[in-house]
Amino acid sequence: MAMRVLFIGLGVMGLPMARNLAAAGVCDLVVHDVDPARAHEVAAEVTARAGEPAAEAGQADVLLLMVPSSDVVEQLLLGDGLLERLRPGSVVLDMSSSRPASTVELARRAAERGVRYVDAPVSGGQAKAITGELSIMAGGDADPVERVRPLLSAMGSTIHRTGPAGSGHALKALNNLLSAIGIAGAAEVLTAGTKFGLDPKVMLDVINSSTGRNQATQVKFEPYVLSGTFDSGFALSLMVKDLRTALQIADDTGTPTPVARTVVDAAARALQATPEPGADHTVLARWIAANAGVDLAAATREHT
Ligand code: NAD
Repeated sequence: MAMRVLFIGLGVMGLPMARNLAAAGVCDLVVHDVDPARAHEVAAEVTARAGEPAAEAGQADVLLLMVPSSDVVEQLLLGDGLLERLRPGSVVLDMSSSRPASTVELARRAAERGVRYVDAPVSGGQAKAITGELSIMAGGDADPVERVRPLLSAMGSTIHRTGPAGSGHALKALNNLLSAIGIAGAAEVLTAGTKFGLDPKVMLDVINSSTGRNQATQVKFEPYVLSGTFDSGFALSLMVKDLRTALQIADDTGTPTPVARTVVDAAARALQATPEPGADHTVLARWIAANAGVDLAAATREHT
């Protein structure tokens, strides 16, 4: 009998991930979102059906979560009582970017009921979620990680087991901290160069064939910053959540992080200063440039 998966959270990432999971034909898929239209959209397109978590959890082999934060994960598992409804031997697969300390505690409580726990957050954004090429970092015991591997393979192209439960979430937050440092650094450099009189697009092309390049300069700046669209599909509020998680790891481990702390502070201030609801994380670059009186998108247009 096929593995039954209850998939909760069909947003920017969850929607394409659920589509790929259904297309791979590796499970019986039941989907749910607080916005029922999203679940019906998936169910109308692929082999999946919409279901209510309270009614479905007891029959699920895997409860897959792709929700905004640990607060929502805790609400679903503890507040809404889904953990109590899961059968012993079933697996909670939290693919959200959650707080490792919360994950460790939830995994402990799950183990008391014989429920296995895997944290398998993802990197690659909406683009890689659509193509099924996410980078997935899986924390948890080897046995449940192997059980969910066919599911992960349907959504990602790189799957690493990172250690015990919570380790995937820790690594994900730290990755996003490094990613944010890359965005902030690139924004400052392009802003200073623009003020010097350089063309932002020329700078970007040169940096991308030189040693200063990073994922932000290679993948994010041209389509989302220099274009002025700021619509990569990853919310600034979600990034700030991840950055706070990463700083907590630094604090808990007694790691001095003066550079990272400055970037997290900048991202938090950019979020506070940005009125658009759901503003994209690439707005951090716009905010950094604006502090110097520079509009990188306008400067790019002026040079073309
Ligand atoms: P999103 O806000 O687009 O989607 C979250 C979905 O969860 C929404 O559809 C929302 O309706 C649903 N939801 C919220 N509370 C719920 C509840 N109680 N019950 C059922 N459904 C609920 O967010 P996203 O961008 O898809 O991100 C999801 C997770 O993945 C986050 O933890 C985020 O940090 C992480 N992530 C996002 C990206 C990205 O590029 N967007 C990349 C990697 C990781």
